[in-house]
Amino acid sequence: MTMTKWVIRGARPLGAGPADITMTDGTITAAASEPGAQVLDAAGLVALPGLVDLHTHLSEPGREAAETIETGTLAAALGGFTAVHAMANTDPVADTAGVTEQIWRLGRAAGHCDVQPVGAVTVGLVGSRLAELGAMAESAARVRVFSDDGRCVSDAVLMRRALEYVKAFDGVIAQHAQEPRLTEGAQMNEGVASGRLGLVGWPAVAEEAIIARDCLLAAHVGSALHICHVSTAGSVEIIRWAKSKGWRVTAEVTPHHLLLTDDLVAGYDPVYKVNPPLRTAADVAGLREGLADGTIDCVATDHAPHPVEDKETEWAVAAFGMTGLETALRVVQEAVVDTGLLDWAQVADRMSARPAAIGRLSGHGQPLAPGSPANLVLYDPQARSAVDPATHASRSRNSPFAGLTLPGQVVATFLRGRPTVLDGKPA
Ligand SMILES: [Zn+2]
Repeated sequence: MTMTKWVIRGARPLGAGPADITMTDGTITAAASEPGAQVLDAAGLVALPGLVDLHTHLSEPGREAAETIETGTLAAALGGFTAVHAMANTDPVADTAGVTEQIWRLGRAAGHCDVQPVGAVTVGLVGSRLAELGAMAESAARVRVFSDDGRCVSDAVLMRRALEYVKAFDGVIAQHAQEPRLTEGAQMNEGVASGRLGLVGWPAVAEEAIIARDCLLAAHVGSALHICHVSTAGSVEIIRWAKSKGWRVTAEVTPHHLLLTDDLVAGYDPVYKVNPPLRTAADVAGLREGLADGTIDCVATDHAPHPVEDKETEWAVAAFGMTGLETALRVVQEAVVDTGLLDWAQVADRMSARPAAIGRLSGHGQPLAPGSPANLVLYDPQARSAVDPATHASRSRNSPFAGLTLPGQVVATFLRGRPTVLDGKPA
């Protein structure tokens, strides 16, 4: 096995003063220099631990026209990620040990970042009986996060059973909080904008009611609940209350919900159609505040690639979802760093340490310190450019940030001491 040695010169770990980072054989070491090491000049670049996404749709198996594990994980590396959790709504659904192991193996073969499969909560995501959670947990993929994401586990009895079941192996149920009856036919956030546009509204209460119910259920059975893509200020309030009780509840917010509002739907461009929907400016403010004070634990992309024919069509029939891996860190800088709400150490916490802890990934989210796995991203916060999805590695182009000028550029990503991205390009 070839020895790989790198010295990163003059980077700013977590945005602090310049320091050198030495990596030998996949681990950060205390050595000041290494004979024969490759040197990367990182003056001015912020160094963060490799980002971890709790919520990625890689679309393989079954939806390879949208994305493959190869293209999706390359997009992740280009966005600064060293690990992603792959959601279960593939075809076949990741509801067995066999399918989750297949996804885990394809991720290892691609090699751009670690792929941790999420297992389905219910067979086929149809919400009628529990999937084989224990077998997925015991498989080579060692599944710990379970979600029917894309659909809500709306049956309270099933949700209770799932929460009880995963306690045996320290698992977590990640809920897509969407009360189905309250959102039948819903197309966008229910409010002033939906009234004006004549689209069926998606009320905040449809999300908040499920979150409140599930916080109570998780507390009742003493289990771990994670809330996917929180989108309303009211949801933040409920989660803040649940956390104040000491309950095991965690939550994520997407980059798009931190930056975009439902006013964008005015042109009926389906690139802005997403589940949960874009909300109001007051919701965006509540989400930013929740992320800053730690009520919301982490940022997760909900990267949801779709082929052109499913997005460039009329609003009512277009698919829900947006790509996000390659723009996540830049949007976070725009929304919460450049606005003074979070510093880079807090970004590292919200985009690496906490998602790794929630996803039970021991090899990720570690501090940039000797002995840690050499997973890191070097990021230029001074760069500025317009987002051009045509240059993205993702197979899909449905970025709501297309044409928008954003700060930042991922310059390099290292996975266990090996570069996956150098000079902003695949290594
Ligand atoms: Zn979802």
